[in-house]
Amino acid sequence: MAEQLIISISGMRGIVGENLTDSIAADYGSAFGTFLKKTHADKKEKLSVCIGRDSRSSGQMLKSAVIAGLSAVGINVIDLEMVTTPGVGIMVRELHCSGGVSITASHNPIQYNGIKLLLSNGVAPPLDVAERIKQFFFDKNFAFVDSPHCGQVTSNKQTDVTHIARVLAIVNKEAIAAKKFSVVLDSVNGAGGPVTKKILAELGCKVVAINDEPTGIFSHRPEPTAKNLTGLCEVVKIEAADIGFAQDPDADRLAIVDEAGDYIGEEYTLALAAKCVFRKKTGKAATNLSTSRMLDDIAEKAGSQVVRTAVGEANVAAAMLEHNCIIGGEGNGGVIDLRVGPIRDSLVAIAFVLQLMAETSKTVSQLVGEIGGYYMRKDKFVADESQAGQILNLAKKTFTVARLNTIDGCRFDFDDGWVHLRASNTEPVMRVIVEVKDKLTMRKYIDAVSNIRKEIIR
Ligand code: MG
Repeated sequence: MAEQLIISISGMRGIVGENLTDSIAADYGSAFGTFLKKTHADKKEKLSVCIGRDSRSSGQMLKSAVIAGLSAVGINVIDLEMVTTPGVGIMVRELHCSGGVSITASHNPIQYNGIKLLLSNGVAPPLDVAERIKQFFFDKNFAFVDSPHCGQVTSNKQTDVTHIARVLAIVNKEAIAAKKFSVVLDSVNGAGGPVTKKILAELGCKVVAINDEPTGIFSHRPEPTAKNLTGLCEVVKIEAADIGFAQDPDADRLAIVDEAGDYIGEEYTLALAAKCVFRKKTGKAATNLSTSRMLDDIAEKAGSQVVRTAVGEANVAAAMLEHNCIIGGEGNGGVIDLRVGPIRDSLVAIAFVLQLMAETSKTVSQLVGEIGGYYMRKDKFVADESQAGQILNLAKKTFTVARLNTIDGCRFDFDDGWVHLRASNTEPVMRVIVEVKDKLTMRKYIDAVSNIRKEIIR
């Protein structure tokens, strides 16, 4: 069966040539432009949107189509060309645009591409806004303009320079440079290679870059998980490097390999970044309900708190803005610092981790050891909406001793761990995340969830 075109809070994603075509992309551009015109009806001057793409071969085609769709409804477009997703987020604000578009399917395999939308504050649209844009798309309700009023297209090549300057402004560049760290970087032939090599050079690092050419021909599966990064681990060992960094194709996520060549797990990216930030400042952190308790441990030691949000980058960013958080992000290696932009940014994560290493004179494995760890297991099973609802109800009756958070499914917090059950927004699937201190406890909660599921889905 052909995969569905997915339109969610984070934009549109599909398989190029099957369900994601130039005409679909143009319609989505017109839908976004129409939405922007309706919400900025008071503005006299023509609205503008900046657009960038990752390195996928279909990026040029989809970008041209989205530009055509935006221009057709009278939106001026600033073409940033091949850039990272956080780069687009930064330029939306830098250029005072009404919106931004990143053509990327993020960590998904090569046959996919996607269209990610950003609002004028650099954040992905919240759910209600995403729904409105989707409705314009499905109704083909487009505010086309006549020839003299079509949007004009200009180009801007300042994204990388602007991005690097913003990140360097928030870290101790001298302290990092003095250490002359040896770094291996794996950009999986995505958009991140060129800009990341430049910032690492500015930070005085000796860089061995692999898969750094932004060809869009990914040399391994692009999600930065352990099984996809064996090549990076090997090069870190061979080079006797201090650290290995892996980005996904649009460079918003970062995974880390320690000095022994061991993949430490994406949950540690946010934990290490937070450890760096909380050494010097007090303030709140924000993350979603599915992210490790390590962040709470680090915040607590600093006398601080973590705001938990529903899953979705836009929710974390919104909470960070609301609570003026000094750090935030997601357990998938996405780190957000509002001073750079309200969007996950692997360059921010890299800078913080290097700063932590520099200021403590500790290796990655020592820093990971200090944070301590948990066992985390992520699972999913098929469940329709009604079954998902029944499972949540039964779970509430089962886990009565837990502290319960219901902003996105149910998260049950116990003294020895937590369980998060939530229905996927995009498919009839229930996701289960369990995090505990030891393996026996893991069995206890996995079995309990399994019994609840069997009770409802026979
Ligand atoms: Mg990504």
